[in-house]
Amino acid sequence: MCGIVGVIGHKDASKLAYLGLCALQHRGEESSGIVSYDRKNTHSHKGMGLVGDVFNEETLKLLRGFMAVGHVRYSTTGSSISKNIQPFLVNHRKGHIAIAHNGNLTNTAELRQTLEEKGSIFQSSMDSEIIVHLLAKSTKSDSKARTIEALSQLQGAYSLVLMLDDVLIGVRDPYGFRPLCLGKFDGAYVLASESCALDLIRAEYIREIEPGEIVLIKKNSIESLKPFSQIKHTACIFEYIYFARPDSNIFGQNVYFTRKRLGYQLAIEYPVDCDIVMPIPDSGNYAAMGYSEKSGIPLETGLIRNHYIGRTFIQPSQEIRDFRVRVKLNAIKDVLKGKRVAVVEDSIVRGTTSRSRVRTLREAGAKEVHMLVSCPPLVSPCYYGIDFPTKKELIASKHTIDWIRNFIGLDSLKYLSLEGMLKAMPLAKDEFCTACYTGKYPTAIPKKFSKTQLEGRR
Ligand code: SF4
Repeated sequence: MCGIVGVIGHKDASKLAYLGLCALQHRGEESSGIVSYDRKNTHSHKGMGLVGDVFNEETLKLLRGFMAVGHVRYSTTGSSISKNIQPFLVNHRKGHIAIAHNGNLTNTAELRQTLEEKGSIFQSSMDSEIIVHLLAKSTKSDSKARTIEALSQLQGAYSLVLMLDDVLIGVRDPYGFRPLCLGKFDGAYVLASESCALDLIRAEYIREIEPGEIVLIKKNSIESLKPFSQIKHTACIFEYIYFARPDSNIFGQNVYFTRKRLGYQLAIEYPVDCDIVMPIPDSGNYAAMGYSEKSGIPLETGLIRNHYIGRTFIQPSQEIRDFRVRVKLNAIKDVLKGKRVAVVEDSIVRGTTSRSRVRTLREAGAKEVHMLVSCPPLVSPCYYGIDFPTKKELIASKHTIDWIRNFIGLDSLKYLSLEGMLKAMPLAKDEFCTACYTGKYPTAIPKKFSKTQLEGRR
């Protein structure tokens, strides 16, 4: 996952891009970067870490120009190291290219091998760099034809913001796996992964970029192309379940209400005899609200998130069990003591984090703990830009629900059905990718795949 943003037609383009990245921070915490262009030169500033740590007033002043692209990264191809920070910027015989990419290509290995055999030299281990090479190698003279020629060779998931000389380009792959929307602020056009980035800068939301659409934006004009043959759209359903911010509209629809409807549906499918309903914060909050509303069981806050802690590197002593979980979430004993608790969780990946959280609830005095998960069991890895572990690390791929219940230490465990999840969605059920729940992938998948597949090669 990553967050991407592009701005054109504003004297403070990089400042707007910076604010957009602040709003998209949840999509990637590993590194941040902005590239700007002032009609003479490109300017770039990138670093490992959060947006607020990488940029300050001085660095933003140096990012001059009427145009900027920005990126926050959560690595899915290529390790979390400085050479893999985006936007990726190159100067070539015809001008410059900067790219910010969200998604994962599925024909990375083939494309990279072909390009290397023809003499391309790569600086990073990211699939995104391949797109830059394809654009730079194009023999077409104008930006429109170059973009179409390069993108027609890609397979898989890609939402892109590209700076091609003085043109800002927004792209969604023909399947439409990842979101990308368009807005306008003070005469400038803004592209962003989610609408919450537009809200922060008070930009007017115009629309979602459509699957398979290429939008070319110059200072005062905007052109839309749909050069690829139409195929069935498969938006990532996990964006609605977990990833996107609840105050965003993605794929043209609101995330908050969708999560509430997931909770509603859970209450219809699995009524539980409990004293209180509580979420695992923050991603379970809205499904828990929906569950409480539909079931009539009071909603309480049993765990409080510490918002000031980032990653925790220091474990004070082995005796302080579950330290990493407890430093982020602390139980309110007076809420939980003696209660039968229905806990709403957005998803279970390995199961180890859920186990620690449930232990915290029991230690705080909960009499019974029942877990309700607002999506079906995750059984297959994602090849389209979510860093799920391998199949064998996904707990539900090799164990029964009863085994998982016992492992986590629950009185009962219920997952929302596939039909129920699709029913709660704001788009038609055949508009989604659900491969991590079903194992049915909408594209051909790589024979061999690992996040570091382009590293350590001879
Ligand atoms: S496999 Fe799952 S996480 Fe990946 S794109 Fe499909 S729905 Fe989203």
